[in-house]
Amino acid sequence: MSPPKLSPVNTAPRIFRTEEELARLPASERIRYRLVAADRRYHANDNIAAFVREGELDELKAEVRAKLDEVLQALVIDTESDHNTQETAKRVAKMYVEEIFAGRYQAMPSVTEFPNAERLNELMIVGPITVRSACSHHLCPILGKVWIGLLPNEHSNLIGLSKYTRICDWIMSRPQIQEEAVTMLANELQERVKPDGLGIVMEADHFCMHWRGVKDNQSAMVNSVMRGAFLKDPNLRREFLSLLPNRKAG
Ligand SMILES: [Zn+2]
Repeated sequence: MSPPKLSPVNTAPRIFRTEEELARLPASERIRYRLVAADRRYHANDNIAAFVREGELDELKAEVRAKLDEVLQALVIDTESDHNTQETAKRVAKMYVEEIFAGRYQAMPSVTEFPNAERLNELMIVGPITVRSACSHHLCPILGKVWIGLLPNEHSNLIGLSKYTRICDWIMSRPQIQEEAVTMLANELQERVKPDGLGIVMEADHFCMHWRGVKDNQSAMVNSVMRGAFLKDPNLRREFLSLLPNRKAG
């Protein structure tokens, strides 16, 4: 599979700006200007770290805080006398930029790949990896687990076990859609590890189903991506699925 597609036409107007002009703009506009100039997509689940310069994340946090204050005003919440909400805009801005959406603003975690010296070629399963994400539609939490199955070959690169968790966190810490999240994770691992087969299963609770909408407390969404040998060989696929520890449903 190819990496996420670049949008063919960007709708934002292209106006040339000098560095001095850019410096006077809010950080979000500066970053957007660079993205548009480079013709890069900046959807909710895209990483834009390469377009953010030093110090700009602090500026972004301040901007988000000011806008969230306006949201609270619009919700007719008296943030001045209500001690519970006085710092809410600040807390939420920090949480968005530094934690739950950090995978948009931070560079890919550094991962050392090493050659498959032992020529491992047996099914390898990593997981369950705890997933913390947010849905792009409601910005509600998505909490769940991911399992990764790999069938390396002698040319595959191996990465340390903890790195799977770090790559997974980096992709999930963005407003996501579960189907796109697993595909992004698969693309990243395929490119790095280059296995013969790759399988990913994600099982998650979408909180937009719990505290709004149908309020269904039983629903978990399960989806999977199967590539290479996992796609071609039903026995391998079955073996992988049967070995997933702690899965709720079969
Ligand atoms: Zn949702």
